[in-house]
Amino acid sequence: MRIGFIGLGNMGGGMAANLVRGGHKVCAVDSAPEALARAREHGCEIAAGLREAVVEADAVISMLPNGAIVRAVYDEVMGHAPPHALLIDCSTIDVATARDLATTARRRGYAMIDAPVSGGIAAAAAGTLTFMVGGEEADFMAAQGVLGTMGKAVIHAGPNGAGQAAKVCNNMLLGASMIATCEAFSLAGRLGLDLQTFYDISSKASGQCWSMTSYCPVPGVGPETPADHGYEGGFATALMLKDLTLAMEAAQGAGAAVSMGRRAQELYTAFAQAGNGRLDFSAIIRTM
Ligand code: NAD
Repeated sequence: MRIGFIGLGNMGGGMAANLVRGGHKVCAVDSAPEALARAREHGCEIAAGLREAVVEADAVISMLPNGAIVRAVYDEVMGHAPPHALLIDCSTIDVATARDLATTARRRGYAMIDAPVSGGIAAAAAGTLTFMVGGEEADFMAAQGVLGTMGKAVIHAGPNGAGQAAKVCNNMLLGASMIATCEAFSLAGRLGLDLQTFYDISSKASGQCWSMTSYCPVPGVGPETPADHGYEGGFATALMLKDLTLAMEAAQGAGAAVSMGRRAQELYTAFAQAGNGRLDFSAIIRTM
């Protein structure tokens, strides 16, 4: 398959490399020359511009920073990509923009799906992302093969926008559960418990959660995590804050009460404003 790939940053770079490994012809475009240089090393063709990247594409895949950029990019893609090209946005953006773009795409004769991912940079490089897809059943089926080349799971969440809805709900839960996990370790320490002992108990008791057993925020406890590397790498606080902000916007639009999610957004805002935006989101334990 011939794929126009837009946005070859931390995530998109690894994803495009896996598409090349999977036998696809990838035509790459990015506004950053260094991203393109890496893409070339991974076997991508480099397009002269957006139009050139998509003009012969069977599928267009984007992995971009935010909804405003995604909207501007697809405004140009539609009209230049051939009508049979399936448009797949894998960026994390707001639900409303995802739905709106799909409607515009349909009006202009294209099929489009939202397919945000969970898994981070390591999973993007390893081809083990989880894709949550919003779109029509037939478009989901058509995208499964190409998404499967970049991931370990491709799940149909529902109609357009449902992928983004699943992503923001999941990450709101993750943000709140990480803070609760950090608080539990902090309290355990103040009550005189050995933290490894608390981990051994809670990881086999009802407090167990992913933030504890797969991503423990305490250095030297549980599996190897960013906590063991000074909270470098991993999932940046700034990105967690972006996702929590998208979740709060979605909650407001839907009239949903999300007091834990809102508190998580407040705490991550303060943490990011204190200069920690680059650090892994589990570093919030340092504030406790
Ligand atoms: P990134 O900033 O590393 O990459 C984005 C790329 O898009 C950059 O290379 C940038 O130059 C390019 N770009 C920006 N505007 C462009 C334009 N108009 N035309 C062409 N290229 C353009 O970001 P990332 O970490 O790869 O994240 C990408 C998306 O994936 C975001 O929506 C993010 O929320 C989501 N995401 C990230 C992670 C993670 O751990 N990094 C995990 C899950 C989801």
